[in-house]
Amino acid sequence: MKKLKGIAASDGVAVAKAYLLVRPDLSFKRMIVDNTDQEESRFDAALTASTADLKIIRKKAAQLLGEAEAQVFDAHLMVLADPTMIDEIKSKIHTEKINAEAALKDITNGYIALFENMDDNAYMKERAADVRDVTKRILAHLLDVNLPNPTMIDEEVVVVAHDLTPSDTAQLNRKFVKAFITDIGGSTSHSVIMARSLEIPAVVGTNNITSLAKKEDIIAVSGITGEIVLNPTPVEKEKFLAAGEEFLKQKAEWNLLKNAKTVTLDGKYFELAANIGTPKDVASVIDNGGESIGLYRTEFLYMESTDFPTEEDQFNAYKNVLEGMNGKAVIVRTMDIGGDKELPYFHLDKEMNPFLGFRALRISISKVGQAVFRTQLRALLRASVYGKLRIMFPMVALLQEFRKAKAIYDEEKTKLLTEKIPVSDDIQIGIMVEIPATAVLADRFAKEVDFLSIGTNDLIQYAMAADRMNEQVSNLYQPYNPAILRLIKQVIDAGHKEGKWVGMCGEMAGDQMVVPLLVGMGLDEFSMSATSILKTRSLMKRLNTKKMKELADKALNESDTAEEVIELVQKYISN
Ligand code: PEP
Ligand code: MG
Repeated sequence: MKKLKGIAASDGVAVAKAYLLVRPDLSFKRMIVDNTDQEESRFDAALTASTADLKIIRKKAAQLLGEAEAQVFDAHLMVLADPTMIDEIKSKIHTEKINAEAALKDITNGYIALFENMDDNAYMKERAADVRDVTKRILAHLLDVNLPNPTMIDEEVVVVAHDLTPSDTAQLNRKFVKAFITDIGGSTSHSVIMARSLEIPAVVGTNNITSLAKKEDIIAVSGITGEIVLNPTPVEKEKFLAAGEEFLKQKAEWNLLKNAKTVTLDGKYFELAANIGTPKDVASVIDNGGESIGLYRTEFLYMESTDFPTEEDQFNAYKNVLEGMNGKAVIVRTMDIGGDKELPYFHLDKEMNPFLGFRALRISISKVGQAVFRTQLRALLRASVYGKLRIMFPMVALLQEFRKAKAIYDEEKTKLLTEKIPVSDDIQIGIMVEIPATAVLADRFAKEVDFLSIGTNDLIQYAMAADRMNEQVSNLYQPYNPAILRLIKQVIDAGHKEGKWVGMCGEMAGDQMVVPLLVGMGLDEFSMSATSILKTRSLMKRLNTKKMKELADKALNESDTAEEVIELVQKYISN
């Protein structure tokens, strides 16, 4: 038995077998061989096994993720069946008398380099990625090592990985993946946000879970406390299972509030909104009693596809969400590409600090990104007649950026109206406040926007200079630091002074420790992972807004540290 602790990232408890989603060692020795026929047969066997794997993976991916996502495996199967490449590898084995691994690597490296060097040809770059993937698979068979593939999981497991990208997370099958644990990452990384909406318990930032856990180990994990036990004793296991049951009981209680209004003890009504990543998430918003959508992260639409989504594809997605919400407000954020959200087909330069780089609105209003942005705006404007649409721009640092984005929006709107295409005349346009400079200058922004939505996931990392994905500085990533609270208060007051509403769509909006403070500060809209809505409703029903104002004033004016703020809130809540 071994105990460790990480960052509790997504609620829930699980006990199951470990599934190591780690890259295997595919290194090999280049060797001169006598029996080249035998090498050719080894190569043929590896090809046959790889083809069989890919056919199964393709089928599973189609069932789990849909036909479009499964098509990437067709490309892999085509590479595997390419007669020219296969002949070249075999002939190299015979002429140079080398082992199959070496011949495979030499020939495929040549193809990869050729494809990659074709200037700016996105299609060819994808082919290079296909050849690289297929080479790994054949090599794994030649070396007789396992290549993990999350879509192939068909029994209950706890996934253990160094890190998970949002697209890795999207492939996890909720039915079998009972939890995931990673070496690195923070509580607001996008894979964690996705885990919350998939209701998969998660613990991140453990440092070394991948070197401690072995295949077939039993792992007990709590996404509520961050505790992990490898190969628990029966008593430990029982403790985790009991905590899991307690959590389910609490969830059942929260569930009773599904159709209730969120009203505080003293009768103030709040609307609780949800954050979504795809149109499919609307079902979970309704299921979790969400009253509107405060953040639709549209970049997932771009990330899930192999090329820029067309205007028609986007129009359908936005229309589905608006109709699904049946007249309730839907705030769509324009694409927030960059940071940890990369598009393989959008070839941007590698950057030293992608979170501080060319991303989000900076791309949208630039020369290279403007056409993509205009397509998105047209799709949004056309969909606007199907519900109550609001649009917000991400990562705004300058007033000029907002003005430029708004001017592009106005141009696209005018074009559509001239084309006699109907557009709603009631679309609010707002910004996300994620950059400290924007928070400080919120009074000026508030004069020009319809609303402000505070994106605390990024605002905290920029204000504290602590990467939200880096567990080494997670002690500095402090939502409860009085500095962060003051920035938030400043934005709320600035918005209200201009008669504009102020929301929050960062994870902090559903953080039970901070909700009482936000109520006290006068935040108008709370938007969170759908799975946090009911517990927040349950909490708010126990709060008195006047008392919360007193509490917020104390936190803002009389606290020096995050710890003092936590202590203060705990005292108030328990009274
Ligand atoms: C934020 O930064 O708070 C936010 C909601 O955006 P994202 O988490 O997608 O960066
Ligand atoms: Mg952000």
